[in-house]
Amino acid sequence: MKMTDLVNTNQVQKPCNNESETIDLLTSTQLIIKEAVQNLGYNDEVYELLKEPLRTITVRIPVRMDDGSIKIFTGYRSQHNDAVGPTKGGVRFHPEVNEAEVKALSIWMSLKCGIANLPYGGGKGGIICDPRNMSFRELERLSRGYVRAISQIVGPTKDIPAPDVYTNSQIMAWMMDEYSRLREFDSPGFITGKPLVLGGSQGRETATARGVTICIEEAVKKKNIELQGARIVIQGFGNAGSFLAKFMHDAGAKVIGISDAHGALYDPEGLDIDYLLDRRDSYGTVTTLFTNVITNQELLEKECDILVPAAISNQITAQNAGRIKAAIVVEAANGPTTLEATKILDERGVLLVPDILASTGGVTVSYFEWVQNNQGYYWSEDEVAEKLRNVMVTSFEEIYQTSQTRHVDMRLAAYMVGIRKPAEASRYRGWI
Ligand code: NAD
Repeated sequence: MKMTDLVNTNQVQKPCNNESETIDLLTSTQLIIKEAVQNLGYNDEVYELLKEPLRTITVRIPVRMDDGSIKIFTGYRSQHNDAVGPTKGGVRFHPEVNEAEVKALSIWMSLKCGIANLPYGGGKGGIICDPRNMSFRELERLSRGYVRAISQIVGPTKDIPAPDVYTNSQIMAWMMDEYSRLREFDSPGFITGKPLVLGGSQGRETATARGVTICIEEAVKKKNIELQGARIVIQGFGNAGSFLAKFMHDAGAKVIGISDAHGALYDPEGLDIDYLLDRRDSYGTVTTLFTNVITNQELLEKECDILVPAAISNQITAQNAGRIKAAIVVEAANGPTTLEATKILDERGVLLVPDILASTGGVTVSYFEWVQNNQGYYWSEDEVAEKLRNVMVTSFEEIYQTSQTRHVDMRLAAYMVGIRKPAEASRYRGWI
């Protein structure tokens, strides 16, 4: 990449997760849950209970905009299953948020917590908005309004939100402050992903990328690939993608492609990751600075050893799965590969590390943050990293072994491992 490539272009590539595809996300989740429940020998009642969240609420949030007008935003909070413990999951600010997507994501959070053996069920929230077009103060008013709207069903022992797409530690801080004001006592355990000074955990910001890194380290061992010099392509350069690029670069791998919503950069000799990290904005955009961009779809099909979709859902589909050249696909994003594509990749011998395993680093360190808030004693970054490594390696191995012994792909194996805790806890509670 050369400085002469620098220029400002502002064409946004159209995201693939439109309404009909996200409804598919919920349907496809239910299809695998059904298969996992049957493979585990559970009865239909388990499926009937777990195929949908226990509760999903829609809220309307009036916000005074900077020009004095009032705008009404729509938001959601979905709680899949709280048999194991309080529900837990991020809040997404995005124009394409919809109820079906939030529901599916809350189900996945239950599975992730089950896989990582955390004492939680799954939750998820979202607001239909575009934070890129809102001012700092408008975002603050929206964040506080959302907490007021959902305050009855959330709390440190009920449902604990966290950051997700286009939300960050500042937004978590406003939400925590609003909740603490409503309850009239300081409640750091209400939300995770907070700034360190407000009870955030060391290592939370990089947790998802660290978890993905550990999965990559385990996956290359299974495929007999040397990580040193391995060629990596990463779709998405936000929280998950950019830190992952840094960790891979530091580990001696060659990051040959990255992308954002506007396009992709590719260089078979390896990209200058430090330079790109320095230039990306807070929304994970960097390719607008360059002229020599290719499309996201072109990037996915480039020759590489490891492909990491770390942006949005439905990126690897039946249309392009046959042209994916990576030996390993590690899903940092939620739902980047469709069910049909999963099958095609499996038949072609590609090792796919599914989202509900690969991206559990975030919720795992969120759990560590909540534990530290509850005990009022805080761990060092090394302690957090070591605890995270233990969780990720154990989870990876359990799912890999399940996939080998039960002759199922890694996604189905992950569902089988993840569903056990909510199913067993619901049974012990006498719900089914
Ligand atoms: P982010 O908002 O920080 O970054 C998103 C990145 O994706 C940006 O670079 C953005 O430009 C890019 N992007 C957006 N639309 C795109 C499109 N149409 N094509 C290509 N790229 C596009 O988000 P994040 O926190 O890095 O999350 C990325 C994915 O990882 C999401 O699916 C999220 O649910 C998942 N995830 C994140 C975490 C976490 O802790 N951050 C945890 C678990 C899962």
